[in-house]
Amino acid sequence: MSKNALRSQLLTLRDGLSPARRETFNQRISKYLIETLPTKPLRIGSYLAFGSEVDLDTFHQHVFSRTHELLVPRILSKTTMEMAAYQQETDLVIGRFGIRTSKHDEVAELDALDWLIMPCCGFDRRGYRLGMGGGFYDRALEHCPHMAPIRIGVAYAVQETQFEPEDWDQSFDWIITENGFIRR
Ligand code: ADP
Ligand code: MG
Repeated sequence: MSKNALRSQLLTLRDGLSPARRETFNQRISKYLIETLPTKPLRIGSYLAFGSEVDLDTFHQHVFSRTHELLVPRILSKTTMEMAAYQQETDLVIGRFGIRTSKHDEVAELDALDWLIMPCCGFDRRGYRLGMGGGFYDRALEHCPHMAPIRIGVAYAVQETQFEPEDWDQSFDWIITENGFIRR
């Protein structure tokens, strides 16, 4: 199956989860992330959910109340993005393509992040990531060293699939679903 056919199949599954189940799963996934946070302050790249993506709002609220730093993607063009500081909910604005982002000017290089938490259309147990088809994270991570940042995929269990990655595909170090860590 082509990556595009697989994407639409997986999106249908993700969209098909009821809002109530999604909310339960979102809370569990946030809880796993919170439990994994070390006491030393981290610089964390995360994202603001679009459509039926895993929503990490509970995790973000926790991070706001601690000494960790939080950043979220800001799309700059059809192929590029940057990570902008996100310090409180009032920083939120609607960015390009209708995707929520931060209004902050302060940005960080990807290899300066400890964690990068990413959404996906699908994941493979081997760690491969199927994104929305823009290749944004593949490009942004291209020159980052191994584990800098730690690449963390969050997804619902129904998004598990199998596919062959392409040369440019960046993979996840950790994957978390509502059932816990799939990979770590
Ligand atoms: P996604 O990762 O969002 O699922 P793909 O892996 O299919 O999307 O990549 C989408 C497009 O982005 C591909 O056409 C690919 O050529 C391009 N792309 C991905 N990574 C890079 C890169 N590092 N440099 C240049 N183009 C890239
Ligand atoms: Mg890719």
